[in-house]
Amino acid sequence: MSNDIQLFIPTYRVDECLAEIKQCLEHGWTGAGYKTIELEQAWTKYTGLPNAHFVASATAGLHLAVRLLKEQDNWANGDEIISTALTFVSSNHAILYENLNVVFADVDQYLCMDPKSIEERITPKTRAVLFVGLGGNAGQLQEVVRLCKKHNLKLILDAAHMAGTRINGRHVGHEADVTVFSFHAVKNLPTADGGMICFNDDEMDKEVRKWSWLGINKDTFSRTVSQGAYKWHYDVEVEGFKYHGNSIMASLGLVALKYLDRDNSYRRQLCSWYDELLGDMFERVPVARGCESSRHLYQILIDNRDEVMLALNEHQIYPGVHYRVNTAYNMYAHMVDTVPKATIASDRIISLPLHMQMTRLDVERICQTLKKIVQSMPAKKVVASAPKMQPVL
Ligand SMILES: *Cc1c(COP(=O)(O)O)cnc(C)c1O
Repeated sequence: MSNDIQLFIPTYRVDECLAEIKQCLEHGWTGAGYKTIELEQAWTKYTGLPNAHFVASATAGLHLAVRLLKEQDNWANGDEIISTALTFVSSNHAILYENLNVVFADVDQYLCMDPKSIEERITPKTRAVLFVGLGGNAGQLQEVVRLCKKHNLKLILDAAHMAGTRINGRHVGHEADVTVFSFHAVKNLPTADGGMICFNDDEMDKEVRKWSWLGINKDTFSRTVSQGAYKWHYDVEVEGFKYHGNSIMASLGLVALKYLDRDNSYRRQLCSWYDELLGDMFERVPVARGCESSRHLYQILIDNRDEVMLALNEHQIYPGVHYRVNTAYNMYAHMVDTVPKATIASDRIISLPLHMQMTRLDVERICQTLKKIVQSMPAKKVVASAPKMQPVL
């Protein structure tokens, strides 16, 4: 048996997944409709959110969120959305797809956007805030909600890590105009690829169903089951996208959703073992008060991060980094000096392995190894080989 401890391994309940997929194949329906509708209904029931539309990915969902809000409120090209640099690039690409400008706000101790920094970045061109709940953490989301109301800004919640995250007992998503979840294989509700876009406004939900299927105003499934000679008759109202999800992916999602709370509570168990065994030797990213996090990530902050990661690899332990500050990438490099805290964090964060196949023994091995590595390293100093934050031009 391999001694490797990987960062993320998706867990699929294979027999249950195959049973769902078998139904699709026997039914002769693998596309949008059928299982996608079942999953949408199961998701609204689980979260209490008024609407949910299953899409091909969270990236597609984020693009639709920006596009539809832009349409609704007549935003102009060059208008601004305040976002974070400490995220997967798709959060920010979604803004650029619509010819809007990304403005980065800096992060707080939760590595989420700091409301104070957001407020400083608001200009007459600001239209929305895109908040990322990093690792499942809600950070100061409630404060950001108040800020958006005060300044009449739309709030887009990138909840790619937040399936099952609750704030004061209620699932996240109610507080934003639109919330987008990811059901990618490495996320905590794994399909192979998929996402859920949840508008709180019913009309926007109707719109997004049209936009996710090329602007066609009725989905194929309801045309197939509808009676009459004109079922091929549909209108195309807008230049929409091919972004909807399919029934095979939804089948995997239906099974994963059944186990989501159980899985997240095991994730929290793994995290509390990390807390216990790492002791006070390590600086960790705290979970915000009142937030029951999905615990997609367990992050610590450490000096000499790159060396520590390499040393862990030598012990077959493979942690990750979430994320490199986006200003380290060429296309966002012009904003390199705007987010000092995110930049420092980006050099110091490690996401320790966290998945459903880990045991307490794995956590023990990781913590012991990590402690040994850190103790054997020279005392904290500026290390010449630390990653440079200068853009590569
Ligand atoms: C994974 C991720 C996305 C994109 O999700 P996909 O479903 O892979 O498109 C967006 N934002 C964040 C923060 C993510 O981690």
